[in-house]
Amino acid sequence: MNYLDELDFNDDDLIPAIVQDIETDEVLMMAYMNQEAVTKTVKTGYTWFWSRSRQKLWKKGESSGHLQQVEEIKLDCDGDTLLVKVRQTGGACHTGYYSCFYRQLNSSKKFEATGRKVFDPDEVYGEKVSDDSEEKTENQLVPKGSLPQILQEVYQVVLDRKENPVEDSYTCYLFDEGLDKILKKVGEEATEVVIASKNGDEEEIVAEIADLLYHLLVLLNYHEINLNQVYDELASRFEK
Ligand code: AMP
Ligand code: ZN
Ligand code: ZN
Ligand code: ZN
Repeated sequence: MNYLDELDFNDDDLIPAIVQDIETDEVLMMAYMNQEAVTKTVKTGYTWFWSRSRQKLWKKGESSGHLQQVEEIKLDCDGDTLLVKVRQTGGACHTGYYSCFYRQLNSSKKFEATGRKVFDPDEVYGEKVSDDSEEKTENQLVPKGSLPQILQEVYQVVLDRKENPVEDSYTCYLFDEGLDKILKKVGEEATEVVIASKNGDEEEIVAEIADLLYHLLVLLNYHEINLNQVYDELASRFEK
């Protein structure tokens, strides 16, 4: 008895696979696997699917680079659906959103895009690359699954909190309190980095630097300064 025998493939010999973010539990996408896709996924540690539209096996991320590293595979009660927990690079959806489920039915009974957009599909999938150099700087892509990417993502979430306040959000609280509060926090976190460094505790230093970076992202958003402006400044010094 092989694990494949426990899977109840549908009449088209496919099984739906729900892909979930191992870190945040966010549901990322749903796609179908056939037997070979399941086998390849198990063997390689990356997700493979059967594309019904293209009628071929497909490794998620093969053209975009947005690979999904498999951490866990679960099977539901009646064996007809897989749950694959992954570490997602870039974004799961080919539209540029982090999750395929980026649209939400709102009170006016319309689907509204509320999800996080993490990349420009035109650039990643190379359909049409904008030749407007100014616009390019604005949308400049950062390497996926990297520190710059997470900074960019946190920056976007902070911006979203600033523009669409929600309850019980620390970020919204900071914007409500205003510049002095944000500056006080930046000062405090910088001091905590100093203290952590004196203590020589690596874990503490990392945590405090993360705190400081987050508050710096809030400060940038407060001044409506784009992260790319900081990037350009660092890059221009590096060139020298
Ligand atoms: P990728 O696997 O990201 O390299 O994308 C290759 C192709 O697969 C894209 O051009 C889309 O047609 C399709 N694709 C990628 N991600 C998804 C997704 N989350 N849902 C449906 N189709 C996708
Ligand atoms: Zn089921
Ligand atoms: Zn999608
Ligand atoms: Zn701190």
